[in-house]
Amino acid sequence: MAKKRDYYEILGLERGASEDDLKKAYRKLAFKYHPDKNPGDAAAEAKFKEAAEAYEVLSDDQKRARYDQFGHAGVDAHAQGGGAQGRSAEDVFSAFRDAFGGEGGFFDMFGGGARRSRTRGPEAGASLQATVSVTLEEVLTGTTRRLSVKRRELCEGCRGTGVKGGGKPATCSTCEGAGAVLQSQGFFSLRTVCPTCQGRGKVVRDPCPKCDAEGLTKKPVELEIKIPPGIDEGTELRIANEGEPSQEGGPRGHLFVHLQVQDHPVFLRRGSDLLCEAEVEVAQAVLGASIEVATLDGRADLRIPPGTQPNTVLRLRGQGLPELRGGQRGDILVRLAVLIPTRPSEKERTHYEALLREDKTAKPGGKGFFRKVREIFE
Ligand SMILES: [Zn+2]
Ligand SMILES: [Zn+2]
Repeated sequence: MAKKRDYYEILGLERGASEDDLKKAYRKLAFKYHPDKNPGDAAAEAKFKEAAEAYEVLSDDQKRARYDQFGHAGVDAHAQGGGAQGRSAEDVFSAFRDAFGGEGGFFDMFGGGARRSRTRGPEAGASLQATVSVTLEEVLTGTTRRLSVKRRELCEGCRGTGVKGGGKPATCSTCEGAGAVLQSQGFFSLRTVCPTCQGRGKVVRDPCPKCDAEGLTKKPVELEIKIPPGIDEGTELRIANEGEPSQEGGPRGHLFVHLQVQDHPVFLRRGSDLLCEAEVEVAQAVLGASIEVATLDGRADLRIPPGTQPNTVLRLRGQGLPELRGGQRGDILVRLAVLIPTRPSEKERTHYEALLREDKTAKPGGKGFFRKVREIFE
């Protein structure tokens, strides 16, 4: 397989590029190489996917940090050898929604695809958005949430048509149902929204009093949302057909749930790994010990090998977070802080003095001291 290109290079950006530059660069490429604009062009499609992958990684703070530090190896853990080709359409399009603020917004720029597909059948109901914030413990186990949503439902007085008694609204005579009118301005013809029906193509002459001709009325509804284990900050769940109903007999819209992960008082998350700190006594670091540390779902024994240096990072395998689509759990990385007594007791003082007499090298300015000083000043 060909070597993967650098993500920054793909987007034509410098390493420190801002979020804004990132978005702009990606939009430009996605627009240029979009399959709708380049039908049957495999090279364009590959470029399109490549740009989406680069954007997907660099627009995610955590993934970007990992990529900056480790390159492709840092972000490819579960897409081994996949590269742009192995990417699912879902990934590509979630990068899209993010950069373009809704699929509609993007496809409207081309003024083609979306509109064509819309005329194929009755329009779907509106989609709804919700945000749910979960704890790291819930990321570990998955959870369910009850959401109270104020959702519009078809009005009972008119069954969604807006016409009193449920009759059909009349076709707008200004635009003959098209929803838009052509206005001539010199050489140009400008298509604008029909002023009579506001683009609906229909007019209600006998409005339903229950909904004021809207066809929809707000109703509170309780939904239970299943949140799978392993979700990330920014993961979006699509709850199919839990959006608003279509007034034209089409399918219901969806409910999109944006997930946020709360900060944890002990653990810092890095992908599926968790970082934390533990304190050990000087004697434990010197002689070795077994200490108990907190995990997300309990406690675990951590073995400190003899001669452990301050800031050593030890790994508790399989105690981190699961991947979103199953698979192995990450690790807990424990950084050790060695507690130097700030006010040694009389007894401790005697012990340390005895050590000092014994160990002739333990004096300031010992080996390595001057090298370190040079590193600081140079
Ligand atoms: Zn009504
Ligand atoms: Zn009209």
